[in-house]
Amino acid sequence: MSLYDLEITQWQTLLSKEPKFRTNQIWEAIHKNAIRPEELTSLPKRLRDTLSQTRDLDSGLQLQRLVADDNGLTEKALFRLHDGRIIETVLMHYPERSTVCISSQAGCAMNCRFCATGQQGFFRHLSTGEIVEQVIWAISRTSHTRGTERRLSNIVFMGMGEPLANTRNVFRALERINKAIGIGARHITVSTVGIIPGIRQFASLDAQYNLAVSLHAANDQKRSLLVPINSQYPLEKLLAALEEYFRSTKRRISFEWAMIDGVNDTDQDAQDLIRISIPLQAHVNLIPLNPTPGWPALGSPSARVRAFAQLLAQAGVTVSVRDNRGTGIAAACGQLAGTASSLGGDERLYSDSSAKIDLRDLLD
Ligand code: SAH
Repeated sequence: MSLYDLEITQWQTLLSKEPKFRTNQIWEAIHKNAIRPEELTSLPKRLRDTLSQTRDLDSGLQLQRLVADDNGLTEKALFRLHDGRIIETVLMHYPERSTVCISSQAGCAMNCRFCATGQQGFFRHLSTGEIVEQVIWAISRTSHTRGTERRLSNIVFMGMGEPLANTRNVFRALERINKAIGIGARHITVSTVGIIPGIRQFASLDAQYNLAVSLHAANDQKRSLLVPINSQYPLEKLLAALEEYFRSTKRRISFEWAMIDGVNDTDQDAQDLIRISIPLQAHVNLIPLNPTPGWPALGSPSARVRAFAQLLAQAGVTVSVRDNRGTGIAAACGQLAGTASSLGGDERLYSDSSAKIDLRDLLD
C-alpha cells in the first residue's frame, strides 16, 4: 500500500478527530509539494508522530538504484514495490522543464516482440498510489536539481506495462495527477498498444489528455507479428475506434512507429502509414528501434529514418523523430525490464551482433 493509495475521503476518515481543514492541508502538501505528512512542520508534533506510525502511510516505492545518462539529463530510477516486484521510471530533463515516463504495470502481458518489458512477461497491475508516487518522485527529483528553474511539466505513460489494460487504477491516477498535483491534461499522454475497449473508455473521460497509439505496422500481417494483440484488435477495428475517438474528442492522436531495419521502414510501409494517418490527421512519432536482449533486430539507419520521415512530410503528415534518450542505461523506449541487467552494466547484452537473425525471413 502506498500513502498515495488513500483517496481524500479516506483521509477524512483517518483525520476525523482533527479539525476539518487538516485533510486539505495534508492532501495539498503530499500532492503539490511532494512532502510526506510526518515532514509537514505546520502539523502538530502529536499528529505527525501518529501519522508516521500509521502502517498504510508507508511509501509504496523504495528507490533501489538511480542511474544517469546523457550527461545527467536522463535519469532512470529502479523502484522496489512492497511485494518485491521492480518497476522503472525515467526522468528526462530539458533546459526549462522535465518529462517523466511512468510505468502502469510490473511487466506487461502484450508480448510485443521488440520490447524488453514484453519479453519479460506480466506480473501485476500497479495500484493508483504506485503510479502517482512515481510522479511525486519525479517532482522532488526535478526540483532537487540545483541551479535550474526546471519543473516537472509533462507526464507520459510510456514506461512498463499497458496502461489501457489497467484502466481502473490508471484513470484514477490520471485524475489525481491532473487535479491534485495540478499538471494540465494537455501535458499528460497515455500510450496504448491499441486496446479498443480502453480507448473508448479513455475517450469518455472528461479531460483533454493525449492519446498515443503504438502502431509500428500498417497492415495486419506485419502488425500481428510485431504486436500480437493485433490479432484480437485488428487494424480495421482499431482505426474505426480511433476515428470515433477523434470525432468525439477533437484531439489529434499520435502514432508511435519503432523503425526496424528492413521490417517496417520501406517506402511501401511509408505509403501504408500515410493512408492511415491522413484521414485521422494523426501525428507520427518515429522511434529508431532500441536494442533489447530478447530480439536481435536492428534500428533503421538514420538516413532511412530521414527518408521515411520525408515521405510522410511530403504527403502532409506531421512527423517527428523521437529523441533517443537513455540508451546507455537501458532507459530508452522498450528497454525497461526491471532487472539488474537492465541497469546498463552489461553492455554485451545490447551489442552482441553475432546472434542476429534476418527478420525479413519472418515477414515474408
Ligand atoms: N504499452 C504501451 C506503453 C509503452 S510505450 C504501448 O505499447 O504503447 C513504449 C513505446 O516504445 C511503445 O510505442 C512501444 O511500442 C515502443 N517500443 C517498445 N520497444 C521498443 C524498442 N525496442 N525500440 C523502440 N521503441 C520501442
